[in-house]
Amino acid sequence: MILAVASGKGGTGKTTVSVNLARSTGSAVQLLDCDVEEPNAHLFLCGLKTGSEIVTIPIPEVDESLCDACGECGRFCRYHAIVSFGASPLVFPEMCHGCGGCTLVCPRGAIREIGRRVGVVETQEVDGITLIQGRIDIGVAMAPPLIRAVKSRMNSKGATVILDAPPGTSCPVIATLRGSDYVLLVTEPTPFGLHDLRLAVDMVRELTIPFGVVVNRMGVGDDRVHQFCREQEIPILLEIPDDRRIAEAYSRGELVVDALPEYRSHFATLLWNIRDSRRSQS
Ligand code: SF4
Ligand code: SF4
Repeated sequence: MILAVASGKGGTGKTTVSVNLARSTGSAVQLLDCDVEEPNAHLFLCGLKTGSEIVTIPIPEVDESLCDACGECGRFCRYHAIVSFGASPLVFPEMCHGCGGCTLVCPRGAIREIGRRVGVVETQEVDGITLIQGRIDIGVAMAPPLIRAVKSRMNSKGATVILDAPPGTSCPVIATLRGSDYVLLVTEPTPFGLHDLRLAVDMVRELTIPFGVVVNRMGVGDDRVHQFCREQEIPILLEIPDDRRIAEAYSRGELVVDALPEYRSHFATLLWNIRDSRRSQS
């Protein structure tokens, strides 16, 4: 099962849910930290680093001796990453998505592709959890290619894979969620939490992936998130109380299920509820 953990905004406890779920599966599990701009699952799962690979995307390089300045490449590129003003084109590597289209449409074979580094994918082994995380390079704006590189290391055959998505509802989140069997949306029972949950619900419905909600910090705010979920028939699979001891464990970089063993059953129940919810939604 590929389970993505997402939230409409940052700071809702998405990583807390991801790492504690990974610890609670009771069998071999892969945890993919797809929040490549700010990976933080490793702060809670310090283990043996087993790999680090550089990720590149192919960007065009123009051979001026072959180019006749026809401008086909610039007309093709929807990202304006290659432009020609009646001369050999200029390439803007930071805007290039590495789609390879300009190379294909060039009638003179004047474009070849070279690799541009966008980040690294690192692997760690931690007590039965394989943590795979992407770390985007400073100055690189496009996270999806790196997220796809992280996901290409996924081995979901018979195993549980947990994807810790970036916050929000933009392209990096969609790149993470695509292909998942189930999405957990983590939110807080506050007006801001509800606002961002609505956006996240629209997104997963658009992607047609079954989903449920985890309400974190129960006890703060009001009941509008619950009301919304009731009206929309969205299952609330777990409520995590606003427990000061959880915040303290978090600040020490400890897993909730290790620091407060009474919470183990909560996360085990969450996994059970996900499986049950999948059955009833399929
Ligand atoms: S590889 Fe794609 S995105 Fe990059 S310059 Fe060529 S057409 Fe544009
Ligand atoms: S399509 Fe090829 S030949 Fe035409 S401007 Fe671009 S690089 Fe030059």
